[in-house]
Amino acid sequence: MKAIRVHQFGGPEVLRLEAVPTPRPGVNQVLIRLQAVGVNPVDTYIRSGSNPNLALPYTPGMDAAGIVDVVGEGDHGIKVGDRVYTSDTLSGAYAEFSLCEAAHTHRLPEKISFKQGAAVNVPYATAYRALFHRAKAQAGEVVLIHGASGGVGIAATQIARAAGLIVIGTGGTEKGRKLVAGQGAHHVLDHGMPDYLARAVSLTGGRGVDIILEMLANVNLGKDLPVLARSGRVIVIGSRGRVEITPRDLMSRDADIRAMSLFNASAAELASIHAALGAGLENGTLRPVVGREMPLADAPRAHAAVLEPGAYGKIVLIP
Ligand code: NAP
Repeated sequence: MKAIRVHQFGGPEVLRLEAVPTPRPGVNQVLIRLQAVGVNPVDTYIRSGSNPNLALPYTPGMDAAGIVDVVGEGDHGIKVGDRVYTSDTLSGAYAEFSLCEAAHTHRLPEKISFKQGAAVNVPYATAYRALFHRAKAQAGEVVLIHGASGGVGIAATQIARAAGLIVIGTGGTEKGRKLVAGQGAHHVLDHGMPDYLARAVSLTGGRGVDIILEMLANVNLGKDLPVLARSGRVIVIGSRGRVEITPRDLMSRDADIRAMSLFNASAAELASIHAALGAGLENGTLRPVVGREMPLADAPRAHAAVLEPGAYGKIVLIP
C-alpha cells in the first residue's frame, strides 16, 4: 500500500509518500480501507519532534474513515464492509489502509460521508471532553468559543448548541464567521477586532460568560479572565507559547483555569464520548464540516495549511 512516512523529525518536507507492506490484523484488530484522513494540528507537532521517543520511521495520523476490509479473530462485533471512523490507529492514518484495535473503530451512520467521518475524532472528542468533562457545562450557560471556525471550534459550536448553551463563537475571517453562524452560534465575533471581548460581555448584559473554550491561550488567556462571570471556567485546549495573567482576575470571580489533553482521557471516558458522538451523528445534531480536501501525496501542503490563519472546518486527505 501507499503511505506517508516520516524518517526524521522536521518540517512538512519530511512527509514522503512511499510503498510499504499492507498490515494484517491480529486478535481484536481490524484493517480498514481508508477513504479519507483527518489532518490535526497535533500531527504537525509530532512530525516536528514533540514526541522524541516515537520510533522512526512512522506513518502520521489517528483520524480516518473507511470500510472494514479484514477483521482479526475476537468477539468485537465489527464485520467486513462496515463503514467506520477511527479514534486511534496502530499503523498510522496517512495511508491507503490502516490497522486499528477494534475498540478504536466506531460505526459511521450512512448519512455521514467518509470525508466527514475523518473529521470526527480529535475535534469532536476534544470539544465534548472540554465542555462536559472539564467545564461541567450546564444547559442555559453562556460559552465563548475562542476560535470557533476551526475543527474543534465547529464541533464545540454544534455540541454546545444542541445541549442548550448560549454560544458566542469567534472567527478571524468573514468566511469563517459565516461558517460559525451557520453551525448554530447565537452570536459571532471577530477575534481580530480590538473591542470584541467587551462586546462578548455586553452580549451577556454585563454578567460575563460562564465558560471559555480557548484555542490559543498564549495570545488570549490574560484577556479571557476579565470576561468571565462569577464561578466562570476557562478551558485551555490550545496554546503555542507563554502568557501572562493577573491572578486577581480569577480571585475576584472565584474563577478557574482548567486545561485538557484528549490523550489523558481514560478508556471509560473515551467510550462514553464516542457513544455520545455516535448518537449526535445519527440524530443530525453533529455535522462535521470539511473545508478543504487534498490528495494523500499533498500531506506536506496540508501540514502547512493547518497552521495558517483563516480556518474553515477540517482539512482532509484522500488516499
Ligand atoms: P484549526 O482547525 O487550525 O483551528 C484553529 C482555530 O484557532 C481557528 O478557529 C482560528 O480562527 C483560531 N484562532 C486563530 N487566531 C486566534 C486568536 N487570536 N484568538 C482565538 N482564536 C484564534 O485547529 P483545531 O484542530 O481546531 O485546534 C485548535 C487548537 O487546539 C490547536 O492549537 C490544537 O493543537 C489544539 N488542540 C488541542 C487538543 C487537546 O487535547 N488539548 C485537541 C485538539 C486540538 P481563524 O483561523 O478564523 O482566525
